[in-house]
Amino acid sequence: MKKELIFLGPPACGKGTQTSKLAQYFNFPHVDTGSLLRAEISAQTENGKIAKSYIDKGHLVPVNLVASIIKDRLSQPDCKNGYILDGYPRSVEQADMLTKINEELDNGEKSDFRAIYFDIDTEILISRIVNRRSCPKCGEIYNLKFKPPKKDSLCDYCGTQLTQRKDDNEETAKARFDTYYSETSPLIEYYKNKNCLKTIDASGSIDEVWERLLKVVED
Ligand code: AMP
Repeated sequence: MKKELIFLGPPACGKGTQTSKLAQYFNFPHVDTGSLLRAEISAQTENGKIAKSYIDKGHLVPVNLVASIIKDRLSQPDCKNGYILDGYPRSVEQADMLTKINEELDNGEKSDFRAIYFDIDTEILISRIVNRRSCPKCGEIYNLKFKPPKKDSLCDYCGTQLTQRKDDNEETAKARFDTYYSETSPLIEYYKNKNCLKTIDASGSIDEVWERLLKVVED
């Protein structure tokens, strides 16, 4: 049965690292709205120009813009057996939209839909955000404190100079948390009521969280 996995959790809760691993594990595409939007910005598309002003402020990009990007991506043939959706939905309105998109794309076929919530104490997260760096070439994520690159600011895998996301500064990070609490966290109740919520403890090492994650996606 097609596996449709979505992920909830505050900014920098570790979703990106775990969902990339999971995508490789299942051989499903890793569909990450933040990265899709940043790619639109780099390519200077019309959508990218609109998205930039919202992302720079830590606000959600307009609902129709993200929905059209997501629908395009989920209709690609590589999503046929399943997908890992990271960063979408981020509001009840987007969740209702995703239900409609899935119904349309699944065409009456039954699917295995699960929302996995990364439960973590948010106090440590701002420091995670300001120390986060990533490789613009292969996408590997580092943290200067918890997972530093072996050589000064260079990717361990491809040697590319690491970069910091423009919205990974303290001010924008705080706004992203406000947005998370007001818009996204109601989805925990929303999916609990639909009986498809799985919660994992997202504190601890990458390996510990990975073990917990496998238990809730494979059962
Ligand atoms: P992320 O890489 O997931 O931390 O997302 C970075 C930024 O992209 C967010 O702060 C939002 O401005 C924007 N963004 C990502 N996903 C969505 C979404 N589902 N809806 C609206 N805006 C989004």
